Amino acid sequence: MVQTDPTARTVAQGPAPRPAQHAADGAGLEVRDVVVRYDGASRRDPRTTAVAGVSLDVAPGEVLALLGPSGCGKSSLLRAVAGLEPVAAGTVRFAGDDLAGVPVHRRGFGLMFQEGQLFPHRDVAGNVAYGIADVPRAERDDRVRELLGVVGLAGYERRAVTTLSGGERQRVALARSLAPRPRLLLLDEPLSALDRGLRERLALDLRAALQATGTTAVFVTHDHDEAFTVADRVAVMDAGRVLQVAPPEELWREPSSRRVAEFLGYQAFLPLSDLAGRELTGVSPHPDARDGMLAVGPRGLRVAGTPDVSGSPVHGVAARPGPWRGTVVGSVFRRGATEVTVDVALPGSAGSAGSAGGVGGAGTVRVVALAGREAGEAIAWVPGHEVDVALDPAGCAVVPA
Ligand code: ADP
Repeated sequence: MVQTDPTARTVAQGPAPRPAQHAADGAGLEVRDVVVRYDGASRRDPRTTAVAGVSLDVAPGEVLALLGPSGCGKSSLLRAVAGLEPVAAGTVRFAGDDLAGVPVHRRGFGLMFQEGQLFPHRDVAGNVAYGIADVPRAERDDRVRELLGVVGLAGYERRAVTTLSGGERQRVALARSLAPRPRLLLLDEPLSALDRGLRERLALDLRAALQATGTTAVFVTHDHDEAFTVADRVAVMDAGRVLQVAPPEELWREPSSRRVAEFLGYQAFLPLSDLAGRELTGVSPHPDARDGMLAVGPRGLRVAGTPDVSGSPVHGVAARPGPWRGTVVGSVFRRGATEVTVDVALPGSAGSAGSAGGVGGAGTVRVVALAGREAGEAIAWVPGHEVDVALDPAGCAVVPA
């Protein structure tokens, strides 16, 4: 599903014509060394540098996600691109034009927020048509019908928005923001107010809608699954800076730093030197990572003895370095697999992301290891029991130390 070449995207639904200006743009969004600062509330409050020199490009038709923990500057960057926050330094260009001094409503950008903020006194069609009031009636009706189809609400024109579910409201908000064919759509956590299951479904539909309309978009989220579902490329932000920009699979396979890997959910970091003698082959570590760390992903550990621990060389680790002895803390059955939480002393594990202040003793980390389906059915993972834990190289990456 993840496609890295925006020109190779398939149109998932309805042949919504790509707006002519997209083809003529040549260049999409260019953000160069942008800084956003906020003054303190009083003279004694320090100024906050929310965005500390960010450079990014978004190609026409591309969807870029800004991903990072709360407070890292995602919304500030998005708002600066929209023209809602002043840019303290750097430039924002679109289609080659410098947007300094161009007000929000003259940028031709669309905005969508966590709460769609629909007009309660208008029906669904009235909300979707809000930004295209100057378009002739018949054409406007056609556009509303087309967009309701794109967002999965065909036939909802006359529904009162007050009768819609949260997910349906966000679909209407999306249709409304797409109606004027924005040359760039800026989405700020548009799915965050919805519950998990709905969010996953809507993320897929959002991607399909952006593809169907050929919309260039920047999508802010703190949820990596959501970012990976919706975006062609993901920019990982931390403390006002961009740490890495890459297509989802590449980001996952080759996180450029331990910080990026931690944010993606890699749970432990083992110095490669400590794994020496365990047949490390150096197949595809990150170029900077020859003396680095093996980052153990959420699927990078197995409760050993289970059938599908691969012995194949992936990410530079050939054989199973292990097994180690661990102590079962508990287990849950999720998404078709048993996840066993284990306290285990991994090499060099003091201070790993998964350690929780000495849980289980010095040098011991609390990690999650997968049990194979067969083993999951057969074995009761009794807290306190000892088990063997092994690496599954397919779930690991190599990052710089
Ligand atoms: P994110 O979207 O990643 O959660 P924000 O861009 O909202 O991050 O915030 C980045 C930093 O800027 C935070 O430290 C936040 O407290 C601060 N900040 C955001 N908006 C304002 C504001 N209007 N005034 C002062 N500080 C702000």
